[in-house]
Amino acid sequence: MVTPNLYYADLKDSYLFYHIAQKTGAYLEQNPGAHLYRLGIGDVSLPLCDAVIKALHEAVDDQATAGRFHGYMPECGAPFLREAIGGYYARRGVQLLTDEIFVSSGASDELGDILHLFDRKNSALVIEPAYPAYVDANIMEGRKIIHLPSSEAEGFLPLPSEHIEADLIYLCSPNNPTGAVFNRDQLQLWVDHANRTGAVILFDAAYEAFIEEDGLPHSIFELEGARTCAIEICSLSKTAGFTGTRLGYTVVPKELERQGMNFHDMWVRNRTTKTNGVSYIIQKGAAAVFTPEGQRQIQENIQVYKKNAACLMEVLDELGIWYCGGKNAPYIWMKCPDHQTGWEFFDRLLHEIQVVGTPGEGFGACGEGYFRFSTFGSPEDTKEAAHRLAGLLRK
Ligand code: PLP
Repeated sequence: MVTPNLYYADLKDSYLFYHIAQKTGAYLEQNPGAHLYRLGIGDVSLPLCDAVIKALHEAVDDQATAGRFHGYMPECGAPFLREAIGGYYARRGVQLLTDEIFVSSGASDELGDILHLFDRKNSALVIEPAYPAYVDANIMEGRKIIHLPSSEAEGFLPLPSEHIEADLIYLCSPNNPTGAVFNRDQLQLWVDHANRTGAVILFDAAYEAFIEEDGLPHSIFELEGARTCAIEICSLSKTAGFTGTRLGYTVVPKELERQGMNFHDMWVRNRTTKTNGVSYIIQKGAAAVFTPEGQRQIQENIQVYKKNAACLMEVLDELGIWYCGGKNAPYIWMKCPDHQTGWEFFDRLLHEIQVVGTPGEGFGACGEGYFRFSTFGSPEDTKEAAHRLAGLLRK
């Protein structure tokens, strides 16, 4: 008889967003026709930009034309896209070899798949509050998780210490959910720590395009020594509205080795065995993101989300409520008023002003008492939600 992967039994029974969907569903059943102002899940609301749409159409036509048609794509990514991504890094002063860039169907896929490179006996350090998939993907593989709680006092950016003994280290900067971004000195400490201890950093850069302050690192490979200790996972989901179109990329440097095994070679072996590459059409659309026109257009969309953030931050400033994020990230992480827990505040907002956010507890125990707003909603809904929030909390 087959034995299931028993580690699945260790997963918590309800995923955060599933639980939120259940609560909002129940509310709508009791209040049919009610409009909800959804600032919960981090999904984009703007359509793909024109440059991408044009490239997608052209690629569809290619697939209809003998001589321009593409069958299987190279497993690790089409050269035209790998070069375009390499150019994007080079413009920020990071030199990568084209074959160090692996095209993927998105960061979530990679965050799970990349774990195959590491022994199940390795431990994984997760700085909390954190994107829930880090913990769940490791639980599914039976890995020991070291939860490192972070706090307001340290700006939700904890630094390494000698007491930390972890094999894998997740760093997400800009952070989901707190919006906090490591500066160069802080990130350098993590890189030095990983090189000293032999750990590998999994650097999640899904929100790098939202960084607006000069001098903050967009990529871990801007730091000295990162090539011997880090893998970077990135995505066009939030940068360019690809949440439903699906495209990401992962950088595995050739110098990354442990115990005589080279992770770059292993990842090539993994990809060439386990995928047949990402669709030609989608890769063509993605390449358009990296053209000057694409870059200008995605920035216009990002600015719409930034205005949403500004609208919410203005209300929180006026109310004197503590928060972080919003500036270099599409999330605002606020302290719940009246000592409420995140779930209590969630219910209050849902029932009293029909605004949906995300309770901090969903990102780890230390998130209790905090609440996350996503700034990816429509400007109209965000404006109205901010107005309702001000009305509720001014009382
Ligand atoms: N990493 C972080 C920190 C995220 O917040 C998300 C999505 O919300 C992802 C990765 C997943 O991105 P993708 O859509 O590329 O799978």
